[in-house]
Amino acid sequence: MNRIRLKDKEFELFIPESKIKEAIQGMAVRIKEDIKGTDPLFVGVLNGAFMFAAELMKELNGPYQLTFARYSSYKGTSSSGEINEIMPIQVPVEGRTVVLMEDIIDTGFTMEFVINKLRNAGAADVKLATLLFKPEAMQCKLVPDYVGLSIPTDFIVGYGLDYDELGRMYRDIYKIVEPGK
Ligand code: 5GP
Ligand code: MG
Repeated sequence: MNRIRLKDKEFELFIPESKIKEAIQGMAVRIKEDIKGTDPLFVGVLNGAFMFAAELMKELNGPYQLTFARYSSYKGTSSSGEINEIMPIQVPVEGRTVVLMEDIIDTGFTMEFVINKLRNAGAADVKLATLLFKPEAMQCKLVPDYVGLSIPTDFIVGYGLDYDELGRMYRDIYKIVEPGK
């Protein structure tokens, strides 16, 4: 499919599944190397990162602990800046190496909030793995440790990412088409 429509918006194919998988494989190799000798806790950030987390875990294929947490900040097609913790991490993180798995970093406010919480809770090390990164939108002093793909500041859907809760199940990533194009 080259184009999809979700509610009032049109999206065009942007990143095919094959490229996404390749990026995740590359991340897995680096993560595996870096976590050697530690007992990491992987945390998938819901809802958006569910597909990325599943793929990354299958690539790691190891004896690691996995849990999920849920935050929300987006309204429609832009970041609200206000972070809601809907489901906290329900595993003690004190002394642990925590690897956060996020779908996309835009302004950085969500991950800054989560990383601060983890540090305050006594995590020994916090690593941030994000499938997608919009470097030009970043408003925090945050440097992701693992980035799948860097992209321009366009609104995208698919592979876990939604527009008003629709579009998460597409296997490819689509970019918004501005009206008139
Ligand atoms: P931040 O706090 O970095 O601004 O935003 C992070 C969250 O906003 C991500 O976890 C993601 O859920 C959402 N987000 C950011 N950019 C996009 C985008 O282009 N498309 C969608 N669907 N969600 C996005
Ligand atoms: Mg997210």
